[in-house]
Amino acid sequence: MSEVRLRFAPSPTGYLHVGGARTALFNWLLARKEGGEFILRIEDTDVARSTQESVDAILEGMTWLGLDWDEGPFYQSDNFPLYREYVEKMLAAGSAYKCYCTAEALEKKRELAISEGRKPKYDGTCRSLTEDVPGAPFVVRFRAPLEGETAFNDLIKGRISFQNEELDDLIIQRTDGTPTYNFTVVVDDATMGITTVIRGDDHVNNTPRQILLYEALGYPVPKFAHVPMILGADKARLSKRHGATSVMAYRDMGFLPEAMVNYLVRLGWSYGDEEIFTLDDLIQKFSIESVGRSAGVFNPDKLLWLNAHYIKTGDPQRLADLLLPFLRERGVDHTVGPDLVAVVRTLLDRSRTMLEMADGAIFYYKSDFEYDEKSLAKFLTPAARELCAALVERLRQAEDLGHEAIAALFDGFCAEKGVKMKDVAQPARYALTGGSASPGIYDVIGVLGRDETIRRIQRALSA
Ligand code: GLU
Repeated sequence: MSEVRLRFAPSPTGYLHVGGARTALFNWLLARKEGGEFILRIEDTDVARSTQESVDAILEGMTWLGLDWDEGPFYQSDNFPLYREYVEKMLAAGSAYKCYCTAEALEKKRELAISEGRKPKYDGTCRSLTEDVPGAPFVVRFRAPLEGETAFNDLIKGRISFQNEELDDLIIQRTDGTPTYNFTVVVDDATMGITTVIRGDDHVNNTPRQILLYEALGYPVPKFAHVPMILGADKARLSKRHGATSVMAYRDMGFLPEAMVNYLVRLGWSYGDEEIFTLDDLIQKFSIESVGRSAGVFNPDKLLWLNAHYIKTGDPQRLADLLLPFLRERGVDHTVGPDLVAVVRTLLDRSRTMLEMADGAIFYYKSDFEYDEKSLAKFLTPAARELCAALVERLRQAEDLGHEAIAALFDGFCAEKGVKMKDVAQPARYALTGGSASPGIYDVIGVLGRDETIRRIQRALSA
């Protein structure tokens, strides 16, 4: 086994949440940086809440983000015999014991403790039993130390310690023979040779219990890093109230995976003032020790800013491919009309999302848009109509319609007619796009080509 082994261990009870994705990313980055292994383990022992659909959604989310795993996915539900074996080992070694206390008896003791102002805790009734009670239902409890403290150096939060007397004799196997959560995690992490556990800080309280279990089982205790939660702008834990929390919902809203990765890593981790990181940069620069201790606040504007950056600097061919589903959603058939890659080039600077890019691309393909009365009156005044008609003639005669040539044509045309660029560009833009905001007019003409440009202007003039 490699020296550094990390894992992501989601419970498949929903989609891949941005918080989970960030945890996966941190684990993945550390594994890649250290040349170690990244393992995917599906924690599906809660049969009632786990679904195949969620497993698929999690795998899809990770694949989309580019977080490939070296081993797995392993399913905890395949490991029941293993957990049973470890329970037996602990019983045999005396580090666990059978507890026959009934739920009612425990509940009574709990109520009594609360009414007397004590912290409810298992009182150890069965801890010293020496004989099994044949035929009686039982749970298996971990024989936890009664005193001392359990401490660990969290790679993010620093030293964390717990008094052992605060920790109960944890149930590791229920009456029905199924193992409990903290136990399965330890058996898996131990037998999979996990060296560092990076997870959400909602698990901090589980860690001392898990450490004691490692020790009882005779396995080395891994390092731990507990990542602070992600909050919404109002400082409450990020939830649907704050907008989408599913990673794939961001894809569907037109975000690029590299923007998402860049955004997620910066939610808690920093590297000087740098903001833009590719995955390769991150593999070089990431360190778990430089993840901050305070919770990250989800900032949709910053995500949008990063996405705009990655679109602007993206490969037009790849973006054209990514644009296809968004065009389809809008009923746009890109096979009838200008080359999609050329279209994308004109939209790189003006699209913060692929969805905006799709909206911006529609006019190129839907040439039968309506010219409405009000806009016609506004943009195609009699003077503008005259200019447009003259422009059509000029376009007809032009030999070259490359970007430079179009620019020169417009400059010459304006000088000759004694008008400003906007006097021609505005009506032409309206005629060509049906709107008043679009990529630069030269780009639009370049992409539409001469015939379609002329056709559209003439259609507007006769509307
Ligand atoms: N299955 C746990 C969760 O989804 C993760 C536990 C762990 O990372 O140790 O919260």
